[in-house]
Amino acid sequence: MRKLLRRVSLLTRFGLISLALVALLGVVVGEVLRGALRDRTLGDAIRTAQVAANIGVRPVLRPSDLAHVFRPLPDARRAQLDAALLDSLSRNNIVRLKIWNSQHFVVWSDNKRLLQRWFPGDDELNASLTGLVSADVTNLQSPEELDDRSHQRLLSVYVPLGVDRDGHFTDGENGKIIGAFEIYLPYQPIAHAIDHDTRRLYLTLAIGLALLYLAVFRIVARASRDLRRQVETNRHQALYDMLTDLPNRVLFTDRLEQVATQAHRNGTIAAALLLDLDRFKEINDALGHESGDQLLCQLGARISKRLRAQDTVARLGGDEFGVVLPGLGHPQDAVAVAEDIAAALEEPFDVGHIEVDVRASIGVACTDEGEDAATLLRHADVAMYVAKRSHSGIELYSKEHDLFSAERLALASEVRRAIEQRELVLHYQPKIDLRTGRADSVEALVRWQHPARGLLGPSEFLPVVESTHLIKPLTIYVLDEALRQARAWAGEGERVAVSVNLAAACAGDLRLPVQVAELLARHDVEPELLEIELTETAVLDNPTRAKKVLEALAAIGVRLSVDDFGTGYASIAYLTGLPIRTLKIDQSFIFDLAASGNLAVTRYSIELARTLGLTTIAEGVEDETTLRILEELGCDEAQGFFFARALPADECIAWIRARNHTEVRR
Ligand code: C2E
Ligand code: MG
Ligand code: MG
Repeated sequence: MRKLLRRVSLLTRFGLISLALVALLGVVVGEVLRGALRDRTLGDAIRTAQVAANIGVRPVLRPSDLAHVFRPLPDARRAQLDAALLDSLSRNNIVRLKIWNSQHFVVWSDNKRLLQRWFPGDDELNASLTGLVSADVTNLQSPEELDDRSHQRLLSVYVPLGVDRDGHFTDGENGKIIGAFEIYLPYQPIAHAIDHDTRRLYLTLAIGLALLYLAVFRIVARASRDLRRQVETNRHQALYDMLTDLPNRVLFTDRLEQVATQAHRNGTIAAALLLDLDRFKEINDALGHESGDQLLCQLGARISKRLRAQDTVARLGGDEFGVVLPGLGHPQDAVAVAEDIAAALEEPFDVGHIEVDVRASIGVACTDEGEDAATLLRHADVAMYVAKRSHSGIELYSKEHDLFSAERLALASEVRRAIEQRELVLHYQPKIDLRTGRADSVEALVRWQHPARGLLGPSEFLPVVESTHLIKPLTIYVLDEALRQARAWAGEGERVAVSVNLAAACAGDLRLPVQVAELLARHDVEPELLEIELTETAVLDNPTRAKKVLEALAAIGVRLSVDDFGTGYASIAYLTGLPIRTLKIDQSFIFDLAASGNLAVTRYSIELARTLGLTTIAEGVEDETTLRILEELGCDEAQGFFFARALPADECIAWIRARNHTEVRR
């Protein structure tokens, strides 16, 4: 029963329990009232009997009549009593009358057979002989009632008969009790009256209680509904943002926690994105808070549209939004979503018929760098901060972000401007073909012509940029510039191949091959004239994607080489599965090539490359001895200060012309 009750709703439970209680109350009240009704009806009957006794019996009776024990009343006296009483009996609707003396003798009765006989009497008789008026519905079992059994039920009332000191009957039941008289009234009419009244009472009670119950139930039902709504509203307000109706920080953190645990369990990656509007305060100040609010609502809707059903976008407060992305295969997928969101924000917002341009900084953190919600949030926050400070737009959290000094961040933030203002310049370092002695290719190396700090080498800004999203635009910039240069040289009659370095973050960028193809086409450069250098770590960071990117690049016809070979941990077997054409032996082996360890590694690398059908180039060749050893080892190409440093384009081409001219003469 309890179980059943627990399953039904609170209201139904209240309905059932209160119904049972009201019914119980009805029964109890009904019974109490019925008892009272019965007592009152009996009381009426008793009063009738008393009245009958006072006005009918006492005046004709003499106390001496009751003194007759064993001796019958004298006939004359009995005839007197008969005459006085018998008539009034039928008038008062009295079925039987007995006058008892205190010794239980029937002194007079309308039933002659009882006259002057002794009976044990019942409790009521005994009670009345002590002075109490008592009444009972008799079951006609006493011996003196033998003749009355033809009647249905009868009400017998005993009224005591007392005398005062002077030997006169008292009015009431006071004085010395010398006997009692008993009258039998027909009970049927009384019972009828009781039943009738009881039925009416029950009906009234039932209708009254039913109305009361319905009224209370209605009130409670309404109150319960209001309460449920209120609870629902409170719950909603506790978990959702009032303005945008998106989940708030509480729900966001909760989802993030769930999703992070799930990711850990099924081996996927979950990500948290934190998005903060740039310059939102200015928009708010200029257009008013109402417009600011409108903008936030539209923004929430736009972000939602770019997400999958299982993703969550939340407003975390102010102009900060958060996105939870479950079930990803790779951190780059989260970055792709962030890029998608950023693209969605590029179109201006229409607030109060004014077009507003909005930019946001997005920090991305994935479970591969920290698994609990708090860590994810902290990482996303750090990444978002970096994105904001460096104006890169999107940042995927990496450990280096934590180490960022304000100065480095300031530098990174300038890179964006540097790209736009074309402050980045490329220097070119020739590569020498050791068989022909000619220089037909160069490596493009980026420098920053900083307006205040002069010419900066890549080591001064690349590490910071590489840890931000800006490395992608920088790479495209270098590719664009290098191909423009190659085209320009070709226009001057010099067919020079250029190689460009690819940062690790770009090796997994699936859009890169398309962009490269577009640039080649735009500058009208043959794909074979472009070489892309990437390090072992760049490949290993993200093997599956890098493989796809490299295969797509190779398919276009671009040459690929492994830079700084020997410093990473890529297994040769793995590298041979990639469309790589050249191994570029790291300068650290070449600088001091005569040292036995370096010589062994270099020889081994060259032989291995040959076996695999790859060519080799040694970088960092600073003297002739090194060059001779490399020639002996069968290295294909060399690059280094011994030949030339990285030079500005015009100096480089002049150097190449001079070099190739001499080589031809030799
Ligand atoms: P890297 O690709 O291994 O480039 C070779 C570096 O060694 C260049 O330094 C070059 O000037 C230097 N070098 C060449 N020959 C010699 C030599 O004989 N002796 C010595 N001591 N050094 C020599 P740089 O230009 O400072 O570039 C440093 C690194 O910066 C590059 O190493 C490359 O990893 C990175 N880098 C340069 N430009 C770009 C770029 O456009 N994109 C990317 N992602 N990275 C770049
Ligand atoms: Mg290189
Ligand atoms: Mg290198």
